[in-house]
Amino acid sequence: HSADIVHGEQHQVRERLKKNVEQMKSQDPNFRPGLVVLQVRARVYDSSLYISMKLKAAAEIGINATHLRLPRTATEDEVLHSITEVNENSAIHGLIVQLPLDSIHKIDTEKVTNAALTSINAGKLSRGDLGDCFIPCTPNGCMELIRQTGGYMAGKKTVVIGRSKIVGAPMHDLLLWNHATVTTCHSKTADLAAEVGRADILVVGLGKVEMVTGDWVKKGAVVIDCGINHILDGTRPSGKREVGDVQYSSAKEQAGFITLVPGGVEPMTEHGNSRFLESHQPG
Ligand code: NDP
Repeated sequence: HSADIVHGEQHQVRERLKKNVEQMKSQDPNFRPGLVVLQVRARVYDSSLYISMKLKAAAEIGINATHLRLPRTATEDEVLHSITEVNENSAIHGLIVQLPLDSIHKIDTEKVTNAALTSINAGKLSRGDLGDCFIPCTPNGCMELIRQTGGYMAGKKTVVIGRSKIVGAPMHDLLLWNHATVTTCHSKTADLAAEVGRADILVVGLGKVEMVTGDWVKKGAVVIDCGINHILDGTRPSGKREVGDVQYSSAKEQAGFITLVPGGVEPMTEHGNSRFLESHQPG
């Protein structure tokens, strides 16, 4: 028996969020949740498509979403300034910074990420103050997918591969404060395969083509693959293909639930990282 595919019931998620927004409006008729998608003009083929999908989804839910597009001549200071303005604008409750930043100037993505997902926010997340912080959208989407498998998170042995600011580290925090027992692995982890083998829930965000193979995966585990890697594929019109960090063909034979790449985590992240989109209460 191979794994069930977890693809995220986008429709259900949207319906739930729509109700949340309606409820907030009924409490305060003047309230309208605001979301900004910040983009530094991309030559990259698909960024704009992602953004239009995000804006459309937000509008359907009742969110006031705006696309803040900076030109390719934008400097690092200008990008940081825009983020500060969004942070300080009380009518805006969520921000998506679309990466990569496509400027003719050198922009330090790390600095931009820090400005958007501030240290205070990261601190709140790491302390479990989930009701009062912005949750980075990729890990948030992963939580949604894990919930959709229907199992309990509390007490589950979970392994996260990767400790980046936007994927691995916040994923660790979210799982921990939903009462899982979490091991976070990274490039210096001594025996990655052995760690993975103990995971009831495995979340992978490492950026290496199909590195996690089925023989590492515990029988029946929930496997969430955040990886987006492009490999050459002469059979495709684009000449390339998207694959994950997990080798799907072998992992599906071991896993109880598994996500696809493309189609698993990424569509979940369309919902952005916004305080008002959260319904996470630990437990
Ligand atoms: P980073 O490169 O910032 O982080 C990668 C992490 O993986 C690091 O913590 C690194 O360890 C760890 N790592 C790298 N190589 C190994 C290895 N051989 N063994 C164990 N750990 C390793 O990547 P991101 O977190 O930004 O992204 C991770 C993946 O997720 C990428 O494929 C990216 O495209 C994808 N992604 C998907 C999104 C989505 O919406 N689905 C959104 C964002 C990213 P160390 O810290 O020691 O260097």
